[in-house]
Amino acid sequence: MSNTKHPTATTAVYGSEEMVHPAPTMTIPEKSTTPEIAYRMVKDETYAETQPRLNLATFVTTYMDDHATRLMNESIAINYIDQTEYPRVAVITSRCINMIANLWNSPEEGESKTGAVGIGSSEACMLGGVAAWLRWRKRRMDEGKPYDKPNLVMSTGMQVVWEKFCQLWQIELRQVPLTSEHRTLSPKEALKRCDENTICIVPIAGVTWTGLNDDIATLDHELDAYNKMTGYDIPIHVDAASGGFILPFVNPEWKWDFRLKWVKSISTSGHKFGLVYPGLGWVVWRDKSYLPEEMSFSVNYLGSEVTQVGLNFSRPAAQILGQYYNFIRLGWEGYRDIQQNSMTIARYCHERIGKMECFENYADEVVNPLFIWSLSKEYTQKAKWTLFDLQDKLQQSGWMVPAYTLPKDIDDIVVMRIVVRQGMSRDMADMLLRDIENAVAELDKLKHPTPSREKYERQERQHGRVFTH
Ligand SMILES: *Cc1c(COP(=O)(O)O)cnc(C)c1O
Repeated sequence: MSNTKHPTATTAVYGSEEMVHPAPTMTIPEKSTTPEIAYRMVKDETYAETQPRLNLATFVTTYMDDHATRLMNESIAINYIDQTEYPRVAVITSRCINMIANLWNSPEEGESKTGAVGIGSSEACMLGGVAAWLRWRKRRMDEGKPYDKPNLVMSTGMQVVWEKFCQLWQIELRQVPLTSEHRTLSPKEALKRCDENTICIVPIAGVTWTGLNDDIATLDHELDAYNKMTGYDIPIHVDAASGGFILPFVNPEWKWDFRLKWVKSISTSGHKFGLVYPGLGWVVWRDKSYLPEEMSFSVNYLGSEVTQVGLNFSRPAAQILGQYYNFIRLGWEGYRDIQQNSMTIARYCHERIGKMECFENYADEVVNPLFIWSLSKEYTQKAKWTLFDLQDKLQQSGWMVPAYTLPKDIDDIVVMRIVVRQGMSRDMADMLLRDIENAVAELDKLKHPTPSREKYERQERQHGRVFTH
């Protein structure tokens, strides 16, 4: 069969040459094809993947209402940076920053708060980190002291972006281990790792690995005494990728934000509990004195001056409009109701899972709408399967529930995690719990250990563990 037959408008999609040849992988195909054929090829290739709504691994929004979706689709062609052409997008961005800053109790006076939009928390964290580094560097220069050995202090529960930040900017990462006693950042241990070269401490609101919150108020309190004693000026940047849009609604009394003296910047993901589709992050500074001037780039672009703080130049405007839409559509009340429902569903799943004989919850409390659990002691000893096997089983019914090991020092613990987001109803939770029970019943029937269990026992034996079966 030759590969020269060119499809026409009347070619049946599945009667075309393209459908009987391998998909292009190395070079751009020489010839054009019809939009229908191209569409089907891409669509079919991704068709079998997990339904985003059944993906309980991700923190990122998988449901927005029809009007939000329409608004975002209609603005899909808008580049945020073309501020001369789309000045209202820039205005709306500032409004979002103002609203988020106020949500976090920013003390900054005046008409506009200091912040920036990012493609996600990663970019927002980097901007917060760079600002802290430049402020520290300026201070050191002014004092005539060396500024070549900056460091940053946070727990091993950090998200990978902080490793990237420290690598890319050549900043020493000083990690505080998480242990069975200290399941979140220990303020005392954090301060032990600080010195005159510490650019900031980064506590996390909504630790990705565990769903817990670092005790930011205690850290702030102890850091205040520490800074007084040493004469240092070490600030806090809060990585509130999840917590930034959870705590203000479900726990407004809890002080973690600009109400604390040493919190000078906060970052969050608009596309996590900000409830916008992927591609949006935010960072806010306490006031503009904390955003070093070198980070604002004023460029003459298409005939006008555009001031920009960010790593990227072009970026989609649709997500920003989606965020503003959510603020108007949902209001504070709507956000609270949605996040509280997510908390209720998460607590319900946590309770039911905690009651299953084979499982043990990692923490007694659910403080963000996500939690982790492990096999119970008895099952760790006797089961013929691991949580990795359970993950595979659940995937057969469409659920993505990840199993993974905790960070170093507690990496002997295998856990499973559920993130409850907008879109997970009680009915879906019941379906999931039933599927978990059924999967466990199947796994319990196994006569021989699974390869994953064999591997686990081999590793544990090397550490001197004894298995009795
Ligand atoms: C998700 C997450 C990040 C990275 O955020 P993106 O929006 O995916 O770039 C950083 N820190 C924490 C704590 C996170 O949970």
